[in-house]
Amino acid sequence: MTSPDDSSLMRVAGLVVDVPDHPGPGILFKDITPVLADAEALTTVATELASYVGHADVVVGIEARGFLIGAAVALVAGTGIVPVRKAGRLPRVAGARTYDLEYGTATLELPADTIVPGARAFVVDDVLATGGTAAATCALLADAGAEVIGFGALLELTALGGRDALAPIPVHALLPV
Ligand code: AMP
Repeated sequence: MTSPDDSSLMRVAGLVVDVPDHPGPGILFKDITPVLADAEALTTVATELASYVGHADVVVGIEARGFLIGAAVALVAGTGIVPVRKAGRLPRVAGARTYDLEYGTATLELPADTIVPGARAFVVDDVLATGGTAAATCALLADAGAEVIGFGALLELTALGGRDALAPIPVHALLPV
C-alpha cells in the first residue's frame, strides 16, 4: 500500500528531468530545478530531509543546489545554514579541501566564523553521485572540529557508490535511482 509520504515523493520524482549529454557527452544530468520551483514538492523535500537533521546544530549546503535545498531544510529543522563554496568565492575562508574529479581536481572552502569546534553538522546536496564532493565537505567540517551526523540528498545515483565513500556517516537519500 502507498502511504501519503510515498505519493508525495512520487510526485517529486515526476518533476525531475533527465537531460542526456549535459554538461558533456555520456552524462545523464538530473535537473531538479522543477522540484525547487514547485511549492508542494519543495515542502516535501525540505520536510522529509529535515526529519533526519535530529540534534544537528547546523545544516551545511554544498554549492550550488545544496544551498537552496539546505536553506529550506534548515528553516524546517530550526537550524542555521552554512554554504560550502567552490574555491575563490568566499571573502573569508576557514579551511579548504581539494579532491579528485574524473578529470583534474576541485577545491571547496568553508566560510570563516560559521562552525565552532564540537558543532554537529548535517550536510545537504541535491545529488549524491560518486560521493567525492560530499566526502570533501565532510572532511572540511572535520578539519574545523565539527561532527558530521548525517548527509541528506534528494537523489542518489546508487550505481556510483557514493554511500560507501561517506561511510560511516549515515546517508539519507529521498529518491535512489
Ligand atoms: P559526486 O561528487 O560525484 O558525488 O557529485 C556530486 C555533485 O555533482 C553534486 O553537487 C551534484 O549536484 C553534481 N552531480 C553529479 N552527478 C550529477 C548528475 N548526474 N546530475 C546532476 N548533478 C550531478
